Amino acid sequence: MIQETVQAQKQKALKNQQSTLSSRIKKLEQLKEWIKSNQKEIEKALYADLRKPAAEVAVTETSFVVMEINAALKQLPKWTAPTKVGQPIHMLGTQAYLQAEPKGAVLIISPWNYPFNLSVAPLVSAIAAGCSACLKPSEHSPHTSALLRRMVTELFAVEDVTIFEGGVPVTSELLEQPFDHIFFTGSTEVGKIVMKAAAKNLTSVTLELGGKSPAIIDQGFDLEDAAKKIAIGKFINSGQTCIAPDYLFVHESQKQDFIETLKAQVNRMYNANGKGFDRNPDYGRIIHAPHIVRLQNMLKDAQTKGAHVEFGGKNSLDQQFMEPTVVSNVSEAMDLMKEEIFGPILPIITYHQLDDVIQLIQLKPKPLAVYAFTTDDRIIEQLSKNTSSGALVINDCAIQFLHSELPFGGIGASGMGRSHGHAGFLAFSNEKAILKQRTGKTLPKLLYPPYGLKTSGI
Ligand code: NAD
Repeated sequence: MIQETVQAQKQKALKNQQSTLSSRIKKLEQLKEWIKSNQKEIEKALYADLRKPAAEVAVTETSFVVMEINAALKQLPKWTAPTKVGQPIHMLGTQAYLQAEPKGAVLIISPWNYPFNLSVAPLVSAIAAGCSACLKPSEHSPHTSALLRRMVTELFAVEDVTIFEGGVPVTSELLEQPFDHIFFTGSTEVGKIVMKAAAKNLTSVTLELGGKSPAIIDQGFDLEDAAKKIAIGKFINSGQTCIAPDYLFVHESQKQDFIETLKAQVNRMYNANGKGFDRNPDYGRIIHAPHIVRLQNMLKDAQTKGAHVEFGGKNSLDQQFMEPTVVSNVSEAMDLMKEEIFGPILPIITYHQLDDVIQLIQLKPKPLAVYAFTTDDRIIEQLSKNTSSGALVINDCAIQFLHSELPFGGIGASGMGRSHGHAGFLAFSNEKAILKQRTGKTLPKLLYPPYGLKTSGI
């Protein structure tokens, strides 16, 4: 079944190559309309999967996708137009340009943490590029997956867009197929499996992976401002955000002040006026039992090794819930400094000198982002020149995802390739190089044998 569907999609993709812009535009407009008229259903599915509040669904899931559609609708004529390139002197008289063509039939594999956004935003780019697409959403967000199935079935012919639900067996079978591109969002470990499978068919990949994104607060920075932004960046979706600040450096002299300020902000945002985080409709849940057990173990491991819980820590397996939790006295021997946390635990590390911070960041795999809270341009430059990451964000965190003109992605262990806006369109396109020579004209004569002594002096 999978094999036949992918074959049909590949055939269709060849036809799509000649597809007019209007057919892509029509699909994107239908998709936008569907999202708008099914907003309530999308909210229900995300509440069932992750207890996401409706306002958060609008901001982090659907509005972003609609923005991506709008950007594509507006800019498709420009993105699909031939782009002229410059002319070296020995090519005078020729014409050369780049023409984006659809890569073909593509596979989009998505995770459970922003299950609507991270399935549909890449689909928008694939449709804009003229590809056929096969979606494989996460088995851990079944309500959103079921809704995505309905969306795909209602809107598209199977050979244009289709969906396969399921876990590892389904994904493994899909990965055997000779897709023309694979766009994977998920963990670094599974990213390696995807890339290995893609290599067998020489399929190109975009890998949007995870990692440990550090945040640094410069001494003297407005703590209230930093705390407000870190509170939402870290604890939205219960910390299950790939670009959440994973761990935080605070200057030794400001540690207690910052912790108190952060505590106040977290209580204001997520503690239902002191009634409890578990009773606040704006605070989400952990996706499933194994994930909460993993977070519990991480916290226990840290405490056994000397970490101090500054605030939070309460959790419940039954309710799949963990309070926003801040720990200090952290060491590199703890699991929470070795693995991506992907939950509401924030380790705070104190520092005296920025050089020490940079050294610690350099020792870890390259992250999706480095966040710097500073007003000092020299510090920005120092961080920019001495650390490598998918993004460097100054004086905020996680908002880079919402900037549709800014290519999004990782480097090394946090991924490869870029998405969003034009970058997303290019991920699903082959930029074909087209070169036109004039009839009866050649490149300079010295390129043609017999060479004799013609090449001397080059
Ligand atoms: P995951 O890697 O476990 O799963 C992602 C997808 O891969 C799912 O559809 C799943 O069914 C499939 N999968 C899982 N195991 C597989 C296997 N052995 N073979 C083939 N397919 C397999 O990730 P997750 O738990 O769903 O999501 C969390 C991870 O995703 C975190 O590491 C997070 O940082 C990362 N993430 C990255 C981004 C980004 O844009 N860079 C965005 C969101 C999440």
